[in-house]
Amino acid sequence: MYVDCGTLFSGHEVIEGGRFVVEDGRVTAVGDREEIDPDGDQIDLSDEVVTPGFVDAHLHLKGARSMDPMQWIAGTTAEDAARAVADAETLLDAGFTTVRDVGSDVAIGVRNAIDAGEIDGPRVFTSGLSVSQTGGHGDLHMLPLEWVEDGAGISTLVDGTDECRRVARERHRDGADLLKIMTTGGVLSEKDSPREAQFTDEEVTALVEEAHRVGMPVASHAQGAPGIKRALENGVDTIEHGFHIDEACLDLFAETGATFVPTLAIMHRIVTRGEEHGVPDHGLRKARNAREAHFEAVERAKDAGVPIATGTDFIGPELVAHGENALELELLVEEVGFTPTEAVAAATSVAGRTVPDDVGGLAAGNYADFLTLGGDPRDDIGNVRDVTAVYKGGEEVR
Ligand SMILES: [Zn+2]
Repeated sequence: MYVDCGTLFSGHEVIEGGRFVVEDGRVTAVGDREEIDPDGDQIDLSDEVVTPGFVDAHLHLKGARSMDPMQWIAGTTAEDAARAVADAETLLDAGFTTVRDVGSDVAIGVRNAIDAGEIDGPRVFTSGLSVSQTGGHGDLHMLPLEWVEDGAGISTLVDGTDECRRVARERHRDGADLLKIMTTGGVLSEKDSPREAQFTDEEVTALVEEAHRVGMPVASHAQGAPGIKRALENGVDTIEHGFHIDEACLDLFAETGATFVPTLAIMHRIVTRGEEHGVPDHGLRKARNAREAHFEAVERAKDAGVPIATGTDFIGPELVAHGENALELELLVEEVGFTPTEAVAAATSVAGRTVPDDVGGLAAGNYADFLTLGGDPRDDIGNVRDVTAVYKGGEEVR
């Protein structure tokens, strides 16, 4: 089949009167209608604005309904999974045809049910549970350590290179698509700081070697410069958050070709509305302290040509509800100075770089995941929320 578009955002460029051809759920050719020969049945979207399906490259499909990490472990796995299924459907409604989950104990199961066609949802790429050092960002500092070590927490705690190798092998065995590690402290963890580095060089190398050996990319939660450098110097593929990126970090991005996933949306929501939504005091304080540096870091990274992908860090509760993930595109335009076309690229072709499969833009070889919007994002970036139809693998699913 072939799709004729009014305005086509391919994820790389904008083509007025664009056309693309789809075979077996994948794109085989894209371009101007004059240049691309029709093949099979026509899908006539010649009055529509068409974009690739959006990708949220950093979220948590974990069914959370609170901003307090202590509550994340209070529900049963069955409740969490049921809510994550509802969230997956909502993400698809909002035009997110691919998501990268970077920390959840239910996302592997949800992914499997979606892949089997049993429930509706985006393509899910997941790390399973994230990996943290003891006392690190993934630890729950207020619980007795034995409880967290017994699996009550939100991450697996490992220390030393042997445990790092073992946990990476376990994630592969679980069926994870990628590995998520923490190389700095964070905002919602109580007793660490975003500026502090976590894990040693040897530990990061061990994690990365084991993951890469089996084709799993490695994502690192990294907010302060020392932990960003530790991640990039030891082979990590994507830097998550990146509050305090400095010149040396920018050089390392250029050297390694790593992708930056800033997650402005959760920072914006915590700073503007977190207090009413039960964000713990330490989280509010740390977010307020880092907000300005964070947005400036994204501007500097953009100027330096670092590939920047959309990721919201949304986890499910009202403050950061799935379905509102297009906020990240709006913030890139309104607060950082992306053009609307650049924001669509960040949410499609660039975000697609973060997962080990052919998604993210309408280019030959990629899955034919695309949307129609009620208006052109170049007129108003808010139009990215006005999703009027969703196609996944060439099939209309919404
Ligand atoms: Zn996150």
